[in-house]
Amino acid sequence: MASIHVLETITGECLDLSFEGKGVVRDGDRTIFVTGMFPGDKGEVDILYKRNGVFFGRIHKLSELSPDRIKPVCKVCTSCGGCCFQAYRYSAQLAFKKKLVEEQFRKVGHMQIEAFETLGMNNPFNYRNKVQVPFGMDQWHQNIIYGFYKEGTHIIVKNEDCAIEDVRGNKIVKELCNMFTELQIMPYEEKTGEGYIRHALVRTSKHFNEIMLVIVSTKVYFPRKDRLVELIKERLPEVTTVVENINGEKTNIILGEKDKILFGKGYINDTLCGVKFRISAKSFYQTNPIMTEILYKTAMDYANITENDVVFDAYSGIGTIGLIAATKGAKHVTAVENVKEAVEDAIYNAKANNIANYEAVCDDATEYLVKAAKEGKKIDLLFMDPPRKGSTTEFINAVKEIAPNRIVYVSCNPSTLARDCAQFVDKYNVIKIQPVDLFPHTSHVECITLLCRK
Ligand code: SAH
Repeated sequence: MASIHVLETITGECLDLSFEGKGVVRDGDRTIFVTGMFPGDKGEVDILYKRNGVFFGRIHKLSELSPDRIKPVCKVCTSCGGCCFQAYRYSAQLAFKKKLVEEQFRKVGHMQIEAFETLGMNNPFNYRNKVQVPFGMDQWHQNIIYGFYKEGTHIIVKNEDCAIEDVRGNKIVKELCNMFTELQIMPYEEKTGEGYIRHALVRTSKHFNEIMLVIVSTKVYFPRKDRLVELIKERLPEVTTVVENINGEKTNIILGEKDKILFGKGYINDTLCGVKFRISAKSFYQTNPIMTEILYKTAMDYANITENDVVFDAYSGIGTIGLIAATKGAKHVTAVENVKEAVEDAIYNAKANNIANYEAVCDDATEYLVKAAKEGKKIDLLFMDPPRKGSTTEFINAVKEIAPNRIVYVSCNPSTLARDCAQFVDKYNVIKIQPVDLFPHTSHVECITLLCRK
């Protein structure tokens, strides 16, 4: 592995945390973002590189420790980059996330808003129902390994006991790696384009004994595939379905277009807020089932649904929010989502739960809403839950034209949430914001925002 070049070593104190959860150190008029440094930490910092006017660095040696610094559970949390906060007291993480949301509203949305205290977990470990790991060879080209990409690189950091993932998922990928070694099924190598296995994904159900294993390969045909499936059935009987996903592209996107069920149903079921959901390999499903229930309960609480409400669920995935809303007595729910498999799941889920006042449409949310506004469609309550990049100005303008009296905006990115809310404020008041910690030990936070028409 190439050693990293140190530009300079300085002495400083961490004063704050950045949006990505890095320690902020000031040195004259320079700002340095330091991985793994927390407010109150003092000591020597190696400056490594400069990007967009900001310096990035790492801890060289600490002389004084933050009062919130604790011993992390995971041995590789500083190198793997998945959990920037494991060495940071959980209550401090929650306080950071509330402050982060308020800061984004102030900086990006130009709004002074006080968010509620972040709702956190009682036991913030092993919460992730999805284990997703890249496979590769170790640096000596001897052993097949899996783990995490080291932050900002494609170097795989070996991690066999992730502290935030479901223990069942951890065990499955470990055994799968042994099988690849035994059968000599080689991992894909980016440099040469050779090899077969890119990633493995394990999705575990919280409420049912169902586990889906997705093997992302470069080609439909990889050697000893049938034998591999036999071994999985034999040694991992808890896996109820195996899907092969084929991704032959030179890309950072994990899943390819094509799927092939190798055995089982090709999906798992889970339950959220009393509704049963089918989840396919390509469909989005929140990764923290305990906090997702709290998230959706809060969303329903904010929505305050009545029997006259015509509801719209934009960016609906497998139908979670809209279907729960339909069971809360809404008159009718229409959902829109652009991944075909997720829409098929949503339609199936409505039927399986005997929910008749629901329809799901496969379309781009913006295109659908712009059409709906032109046609004069009526909506009383809008749920929107876009991906990290947020929604679009056209979508927001169409919403304003349709003028639902309440909007419940669920967001996994406070920055785009604040940007989008700022576009609503001529017609809507931001009533309240609840941060929910779906991603303990990372810098990410989910938010529910209620907007009401002026
Ligand atoms: N509300 C769902 C999914 C939220 S994630 C849940 O709670 O599980 C965001 C979803 O938006 C994903 O399912 C993604 O596929 C979908 N999406 C992304 N861009 C979209 C677009 N332009 N139009 C419609 N759906 C989109």
